[in-house]
Amino acid sequence: MGLLNTVKDVLAASSSSTNRGTSTNESKGAYWCHDCSERLLDLDVPGEGPPACPECGDEMEFERSPGSTGCAC
Ligand SMILES: [Zn+2]
Repeated sequence: MGLLNTVKDVLAASSSSTNRGTSTNESKGAYWCHDCSERLLDLDVPGEGPPACPECGDEMEFERSPGSTGCAC
């Protein structure tokens, strides 16, 4: 039964790491600067509209997190 225990450990580890920081607020996506690979969660951005990239100052691009909408249309 060593294998079962290992799988359980992996599941527990992965679920606890994905829940970290997102348990209270639900994020709809994140802002990206593709040039700098900078990423800002929408929850971390005050107000509405895209923020400026902290690296290059360009307007960041909003990207919905996959799986949060569930609509493919
Ligand atoms: Zn940038």
